[in-house]
Amino acid sequence: MKRQYNALLEKTRDAAIRYLDALPDEPVGATASLDELRERLDRPVPVEPSSADAVIEQLVRDVEGGLHGVAGGRFFGWVIGGSVPAALAADWLTSTWDQNAGMFAVAPAATVAEEVAGRWLIEILRLPADVSFAFVTGCQMAHVTCLAAARNAVLTRSGWDVERKGLYGAPPIRIVTADQRHGTIERALRLLGMGTEQVRDIAITPSGLEPEQLEHALQSDAGPTIVLLQAGDLNTGAFDNFNELIPIAHRYEAWVHVDGAFGLWASASETYRHLTAGAEKADSWATDGHKWLNVPYDCGYAFVRDRDAHFRTFGHKASYLDHSDVARDPVDWNPEYSRRARGFATYAAIASLGRSGIAKLVDNACDYAKRIVEGAGALDGIDIVWTPIINQGLLRFRDPRPGTTEHDHDRFTNAMIRCIVESGDAFFSGTTWRGKRCMRVSVSGWATTLEDVDRTVTAIHRAYAELEAAS
Ligand SMILES: *Cc1c(COP(=O)(O)O)cnc(C)c1O
Repeated sequence: MKRQYNALLEKTRDAAIRYLDALPDEPVGATASLDELRERLDRPVPVEPSSADAVIEQLVRDVEGGLHGVAGGRFFGWVIGGSVPAALAADWLTSTWDQNAGMFAVAPAATVAEEVAGRWLIEILRLPADVSFAFVTGCQMAHVTCLAAARNAVLTRSGWDVERKGLYGAPPIRIVTADQRHGTIERALRLLGMGTEQVRDIAITPSGLEPEQLEHALQSDAGPTIVLLQAGDLNTGAFDNFNELIPIAHRYEAWVHVDGAFGLWASASETYRHLTAGAEKADSWATDGHKWLNVPYDCGYAFVRDRDAHFRTFGHKASYLDHSDVARDPVDWNPEYSRRARGFATYAAIASLGRSGIAKLVDNACDYAKRIVEGAGALDGIDIVWTPIINQGLLRFRDPRPGTTEHDHDRFTNAMIRCIVESGDAFFSGTTWRGKRCMRVSVSGWATTLEDVDRTVTAIHRAYAELEAAS
């Protein structure tokens, strides 16, 4: 046993360290093409066994150049955080220990670590102390978890037991939400059988979702209702005004769900906490561990105020299972059955950062996003479309040729994103916001330093000069 693991895990550790150490000097974006990766990885199903050593050695070789430098300090694509060292190490051990964290009887330490980490999260995110929670794969499944509980609760109020009768013949549930929302909301509604046709979209104004608009939408017809609000818009990081909007929704007996995939973490910082003010009045909240808390993929969290509705939705008893009366069995709160012991990495991340470290992680990311946007935007031809209010900003690059149109600027912006990524100095992704192509500046990783920020701004300016000269 010992002999089998020693050499293999040492070799694996060395490969991991080599990878992490090389990050500052390697291109941030992947350089290997689809064809190359397929050529290397796509072999016929192996007939004979191979040594684990050989398999890992080969795997490390085959993926070379096919990994984005997410773990480094200059990856600013989408909203993707790195992994703080303690969480990475705990994640290694999670695989080593291989616990099935569905129930206390099956995974005692894992379920207790998760129970404690859940309580810590509730405190750090400043949610009501007695909310129930679930550790899931990401914000997508956190939406599914929360909206399943919401479906149960709003239909129970209409005298309909959805767990027993299903949705056949149930009163329709209307979903009231802003038209600017994350695509995972729609996927959750599809999965839960509520259907996208039930969504009443409110067109938001530049200042966000207006209370009068919400009131108007809620007045239009009655029945079971879910209102979806947002802490951290994917393009701008904007927040709904929870203090104004949630009481209105509650007057119409609606369940309020908050998509706070990354934005809910503003609550952890004294500087940015005002943005989430009133969010604690909602009925459920979804957020991620793998984004701003910098826990390895995958990790999301669902929180539900109505514990009974949450339990009615997922609670599970089976005769062959040893249910605990005193411990928390995750299977009663989660859509999964067998599951990874996700609590360990979160526990380790929070233990290593502490409240002050999490606040600093949030503050730094916001500060750096602003520095990149303002630094890049100082150059003529680079437009600041959105100055970050948290860790998300938008830049647009003007085609310098005379007589150009918005369409040319769209194309030029796409070319700029490609050019920056190809430089290897930084990685950004694009978006179309209010009809205009933009580059998203999204900072979520603990590893980013001021030096990284400066190098990134220089790389953006250099890319602009290069494309300007070529056009
Ligand atoms: C990333 C994101 C999601 C989806 O989260 P996953 O962890 O990818 O499932 C949902 N909403 C917002 C606002 C996001 O940024």
